[in-house]
Amino acid sequence: MTPIESLAAALPAGAVLRDPDVIERYRRDSAADPTAGTPLAVVRATCTEDVQEVLRWASAHAVPVVPRGAGSGLSGGADAVDGAIVLSTERMRKIRIDVATRTAVVQPGLTNTEVKLAAAEHGLWYPPDPASVDISSIGGNAATNAGGLCCVKYGVTGDYVLGMQVVLADGTAVRLGGPRLKDVAGLSLTKLFVGSEGILGVITELTLRLIPAQSPASTVVALFGSVHAAANAVVAITAMLRPAMLEFMDHASINAVEDHMKMGLDRSAQAMLLIQSDAPGAAADEVATILAECEKCGATEVFATDDPAEGAAFTAARRAMFPAVEKLGSLLLEDVGVPIPQLPAMVTGVEDIADECDVLICMVAHAGDGNTHPVIVFDPTDADATDRAHRAFARIMELAIDLGGTITGEHGVGRLKRDWLPAQLGDDVMALTHRIKDALDPHGILNPGAVLR
Ligand SMILES: Cc1cc2nc3c(=O)[nH]c(=O)nc-3n(C[C@H](O)[C@H](O)[C@H](O)COP(=O)(O)OP(=O)(O)OC[C@H]3O[C@@H](n4cnc5c(N)ncnc54)[C@H](O)[C@@H]3O)c2cc1C
Repeated sequence: MTPIESLAAALPAGAVLRDPDVIERYRRDSAADPTAGTPLAVVRATCTEDVQEVLRWASAHAVPVVPRGAGSGLSGGADAVDGAIVLSTERMRKIRIDVATRTAVVQPGLTNTEVKLAAAEHGLWYPPDPASVDISSIGGNAATNAGGLCCVKYGVTGDYVLGMQVVLADGTAVRLGGPRLKDVAGLSLTKLFVGSEGILGVITELTLRLIPAQSPASTVVALFGSVHAAANAVVAITAMLRPAMLEFMDHASINAVEDHMKMGLDRSAQAMLLIQSDAPGAAADEVATILAECEKCGATEVFATDDPAEGAAFTAARRAMFPAVEKLGSLLLEDVGVPIPQLPAMVTGVEDIADECDVLICMVAHAGDGNTHPVIVFDPTDADATDRAHRAFARIMELAIDLGGTITGEHGVGRLKRDWLPAQLGDDVMALTHRIKDALDPHGILNPGAVLR
């Protein structure tokens, strides 16, 4: 029996997949990096014990393991490595809602939306809402510490992870945290694994905090004649209140979405802000403040609605940005974040880089968090265009670092941004990160090449 046959024999029937056509579907995440490797096999685990079995086997045979949720990642974090096992959690789908502790105990394979719906059956809400809610797994959300649209007010995934079960590189399963709102016993190890991008362990269960359902939101849409004016409005609004959503779209994104959805967006606007308030009893006051600040900052048009359906239509337009822009060419996706006062400099700097490198950049942002997504569109068959796109990709991350920001606000470093990590973190923090990785994964089998070289 070959080693892979012995693994297959130790796992439930059908867990190990080796058909090349099937393997092809698990080679890349949504960043579609052409340099992704070819794995030895895909393993679809059904429970924590399956994951343990895979990691014990991989340790014994020195085979790399790439944990994979739904593959919606945008940083190459779940891209396969040659000869690896891609360990998919898609079949781990149990969930239990505990109303008394307002928690959900959930296996990693459910989508974010499925967790939200299960919580809603009990009048509860799981807030973190990446634009990929319907297609990303809750395990992947925890492993990337995903953000999203309502995170400006309600926080990111890590703010809702109270505990987890995680399988370490040697196959040991440990439980961290639990359904306790306060718990400072020992080191904050739960936090260590949140956002660890599969390089420290495989998350097989999460205990998530739930909160009462959100109040209906009022929505403001504001159009601007420049990205700078829109970013100034973001700085002004966030200095005065905490909106429930504060999203930004530039001219190119508005037009790409309008081409895709035909919903009557103003194609002439240079920038659009989509802002929501759900403050119970105070939404009208907040909306008035938001409208006034947008007008002070030079909005060319403002519009407010209490109609949830209208608000949802604009939110859907924002969520559709990536699929809309994908139709224009190959993409390099940025996720840079800056302190809020630097947002005007960031968005105008991106425009300058687009001009200087002669590339099309479509930009959306979770603007209230200072987290922008400049998306560089290019023709991969044109070597010069590809080179200019990669130059712009590097320069945008360098600009973010120069502005005191980050190369990634929510997507993670993955494989596509790891070369810029030392410039942001510095040698001492890189050395500490390597020491933690070496302590937990001494043979380097977990997601090699992601985050760290
Ligand atoms: C259209 C679109 C919109 C998006 N919008 C947002 C957004 O608004 N905010 C945001 O934050 N992201 C967004 N993303 C990116 C992506 O959806 C998130 O990063 C998401 O959290 C990834 O989840 P996944 O299940 O697809 O993970 P994958 O892509 O499968 O994996 C992501 C990383 O997590 C690791 N991993 C996955 N599961 C586990 C596990 N159980 N244990 C340990 N490691 C694991 C992988 O090894 C990899 O490093 C968007 C993506 C798309 C395609």
